Amino acid sequence: MKEKVSGSVREIVPAVIREMSLRAAAYDNVISLGIGEPDFDTPPEICRSALKDAIDGYTHYTPSRGDDDLIEALRRYIRNSRNIALDPAQLAVTHGGMGALIAGLRAILDPGEEVIVIEPHFPSYRAQVIFAGGTPVYVPTDFGDRFVVRPERVARAITPKTKAIIINSPNNPTGAVVPGPVLDEVAHMAMDHDLLVISDEVYDRLAFEGPYESIYVRPGMAERTLVVHSFSKSFAMTGWRIGYCYGPPWLMNEVVKVATYFTSCPSNVGQRAALAALRAESGQFERMARAFKDRCSLAYHRLKEMPGVRVHPPAGSFYIFPDLGEITQDSTQFALELLDREQVVVIPGSAFGPSGKTCIRISCTVETGLLAEAMDRIERFVSRCGGRNS
Ligand code: PLP
Repeated sequence: MKEKVSGSVREIVPAVIREMSLRAAAYDNVISLGIGEPDFDTPPEICRSALKDAIDGYTHYTPSRGDDDLIEALRRYIRNSRNIALDPAQLAVTHGGMGALIAGLRAILDPGEEVIVIEPHFPSYRAQVIFAGGTPVYVPTDFGDRFVVRPERVARAITPKTKAIIINSPNNPTGAVVPGPVLDEVAHMAMDHDLLVISDEVYDRLAFEGPYESIYVRPGMAERTLVVHSFSKSFAMTGWRIGYCYGPPWLMNEVVKVATYFTSCPSNVGQRAALAALRAESGQFERMARAFKDRCSLAYHRLKEMPGVRVHPPAGSFYIFPDLGEITQDSTQFALELLDREQVVVIPGSAFGPSGKTCIRISCTVETGLLAEAMDRIERFVSRCGGRNS
């Protein structure tokens, strides 16, 4: 039979990040700086608590909006950490941050509507906008600006079809943190043009320079912003698949409606683990965040000494995104040769959009000894290229 795949699904290529991991399986002694997840395991007390809850019967569907205990704990957590007071109707627990993005985009988009995506970007945005019937419109950023978006470029990308802007700060893959004044300008634009904003804040606890700034708290933005969060990165809980989002009640009702029909509800035991994480000693998560910061700093100091490599000090997340434009114009080939010759996995920057073409993404998610060894290997490879790749 002729394959009858939807055009929108066919146009999305397999994820490069997973592809690189598959290739790496053919090599020995590999150091993977590829996949974007903490190397820390979920703290045992959280696992034990979730296991106990499962034995006690938390094994059924929960309300689609999420476990009532978790919703309450999240309201408290958001009030204490962000000074934002939310009604229960403004919050929903989702299948990872990914579930919040999918439900949010599906809830707001009609066919042909445009979503402004600032790139380099988390690759799922493009796929999800397209799967929801929308059209992603790229706004580039520059290495020279530390990959912080220039508001005038966002302004130029707005058309009568624009429905929303996605902001991701700290950013995957660049580590960029969007400063307050830029958020102010984007907020004004959203108000002037009556646009929604999806603010992906899954790395908020990994902002290295000063208090976290969110577009949600700008005047008038609470009624037009969907904030996306996750337990994956900051609590080392990727496999539990729990995220959450908040926004205006009218939008949250529709987000929950979509999530209900797509997934019924998030995993019950996963939500109990998330609840345990909010009740756990928070110092352990701060220590994880500090470890990521120290590792990014180590990678930065090593990379900036390598010939032909340009890199900025990291501002947040656990990624570092050096530019290798003096060595290669093809980051995919660089990444493949680096794997082949030195068994280090990095992700070609082109996987995140055209502005990343000459960059690579390095996840600082291995302990410092191994990271230092990976830097030795990268340095050897870069020097062997004589500052120039084939
Ligand atoms: N948003 C960003 C920017 C990410 O990097 C990721 C995961 O890599 C997600 C959202 C989704 O994370 P999860 O679904 O594990 O919560």
